[in-house]
Amino acid sequence: MAEQDQFDVIIVGSGAGGAPVAHTLVSAGKYILVLEKGPLFRPQQDDPLGLSDYKRDELISDGPEKILTIPGLVNTGASFYTSHVEPDLNDEPHIYQSNDSADYATIEGYTCQCVGGGTQHYGGVSLRFSERDLTLRTFNESRTDIRHDPNGDVKREARDWPITYTELEPYYTKAEQLIGLNGTRTNQIKVASADYYQKPLEPNPISEYARIGMEALGMKPYRTPQAVITQDHAPSGRKVGPLNQRDWEGGPKTAYVNRYGDCLDYKSTTWVALLRPIASRPGFTLRPNCNVTHLECNASRVVTVHYRDPSGQPATVSGKVIVLACSAIETVRLLMLSAEQASTFDSRINQNDLLGKYFLTHCFGGASAIMPGRFDKSRTIDSDWASDFCGTDDFIRSAGLWAGATIYNNTSDQALPIALARTHGATDLDTLWHAFDNDTSMVGEHLKDFLNAQFNRRLSVSFMANQVPQKANRIELHRKVRDKWGRRVAYIIKSWHDHDRFLMDTIAARCRDVLGYGGDGGKGQYPVEGFGGVYLSENALARIANHILGGARFGSDERDSVLDKNCRAWHFDNLYLTDGCFMPTSGSGNPTLTIQANALRVGDAVLASGIV
Ligand SMILES: Cc1cc2nc3c(=O)[nH]c(=O)nc-3n(C[C@H](O)[C@H](O)[C@H](O)COP(=O)(O)OP(=O)(O)OC[C@H]3O[C@@H](n4cnc5c(N)ncnc54)[C@H](O)[C@@H]3O)c2cc1C
Repeated sequence: MAEQDQFDVIIVGSGAGGAPVAHTLVSAGKYILVLEKGPLFRPQQDDPLGLSDYKRDELISDGPEKILTIPGLVNTGASFYTSHVEPDLNDEPHIYQSNDSADYATIEGYTCQCVGGGTQHYGGVSLRFSERDLTLRTFNESRTDIRHDPNGDVKREARDWPITYTELEPYYTKAEQLIGLNGTRTNQIKVASADYYQKPLEPNPISEYARIGMEALGMKPYRTPQAVITQDHAPSGRKVGPLNQRDWEGGPKTAYVNRYGDCLDYKSTTWVALLRPIASRPGFTLRPNCNVTHLECNASRVVTVHYRDPSGQPATVSGKVIVLACSAIETVRLLMLSAEQASTFDSRINQNDLLGKYFLTHCFGGASAIMPGRFDKSRTIDSDWASDFCGTDDFIRSAGLWAGATIYNNTSDQALPIALARTHGATDLDTLWHAFDNDTSMVGEHLKDFLNAQFNRRLSVSFMANQVPQKANRIELHRKVRDKWGRRVAYIIKSWHDHDRFLMDTIAARCRDVLGYGGDGGKGQYPVEGFGGVYLSENALARIANHILGGARFGSDERDSVLDKNCRAWHFDNLYLTDGCFMPTSGSGNPTLTIQANALRVGDAVLASGIV
């Protein structure tokens, strides 16, 4: 039987930006198709034999070493490992431009290619952006106290969002209800109209140092909102079983939350929270292992979506509305590849030459220390305490910054014993295999001392902060490198602004202070061995923190943005973009909850448009 090829709405990508739109539209009785490049991995409950599709090593390796064979790159000939949720570097790399203007292949900028996208591997830290994050142009336009911005870039490039916090707020609330989060509200600066947080688990005892440090510095900590259920969750039909009854002697080990797929159904990925609950409805069709290659338009309507089916054969499908949610880099690339195929598409998507420009990630970094005690980190869920102290107007002004940050502690670093050996010395995905192999001194007594000092004793405090938008930070199609299907791959060109570096130094020092005060009961003398911003790291220009934002910003002026306020491409009637690409500024916290809330909002806008 031929597959259905006409739908009300086609959604490309099933992660944070795609799944909420699907949930909204199917709940309203529409017929939608989700095309997802990667496979469907199911938790153990979904399988009659109780077997999960996840491997605990997703992010690390799915097999033996490979050699990068793409000619003309600085790292051609380097060895690498792929995971089963990332493309093989030889098949479909991202290329980034380094400080020396040379090109490297990287796996950075891919989150996770499977149903659920990046939410399958994310840490689940689910912070709202603050009201201030959405009004940074207004906030900064008459200031004279912004430091380290000699050319006035902040005032020129900061943009207010075309929607207010008040407009977004009901969708934050809806996202928190549907997805399933735990956390606490008191001490947050983000106003909420309702509280759907579940009760957090007891914090990991090692996090107490972070809490004490935050209290000592007047930082008013709250329990970090995380997308992990701790109680039965009616909207998604999930049950927590023994999680609630566990004590420190037994029960499920939950240290997989950050960076690992969750076999147990606690982590609120978009598959378990949003798609599985609608999977049996007649309006829902999911096609995994389908890679969308380009779009085709007829005047102002996108009429055909071209993709390769699971066997690699070309296929097409049509919808009244098309929603792209491939994560920002790949969405921009898909639009550029479509524009390459047809000048009519090009002239509509790229009238103002802004597509791909103002690519953003976050200013991020933090501090890390070896704490006095040793704690069982296998039962952590990563982050216990967060603070909005560095996001208040008072703090931002007094520090001479353009925008704020959120800080929170992490317990999961090297929580699983095997990761300690494998990720030693790693700074990101490209360097995961630095490991003990690269450190030839790590033998004998030195190895023993290292393990004794490190194992279950390390605590870090991280920050996420707004990055100054720069037009030169951009996604292009690479001139030469093509994927295995002959399509040009994404080229990432970005740098850090002087003010970004200043901001990272400023907030990283606060993170250091949290540990410095927390480690010795509030006296501030505890030794903190490392702190700083990402710009100091070995491959700083490749690093994206898995936060892939901007490149097709929304706005209220079509000369200055790619999307209108409902995330519809200005010169198409039926094309919407809902992954992180819509953001004109990157916010003072991890982005996924905002991507999800906005996607719920866009779902309603699609319904209100009357097209479907
Ligand atoms: C280890 C890790 C930890 C993280 N921790 C956090 C955290 O604690 N908090 C937080 O807020 N964020 C976190 N993130 C980031 C978070 O995952 C992303 O912000 C979020 O998933 C982005 O949503 P998106 O819709 O833009 O893209 P994604 O969720 O990545 O979804 C994109 C989907 O599109 C699919 N796709 C791509 N191209 C095509 C194509 N051509 N055809 C069909 N399908 C396609 C992909 O396979 C993918 O499934 C983390 C990410 C990682 C990897």
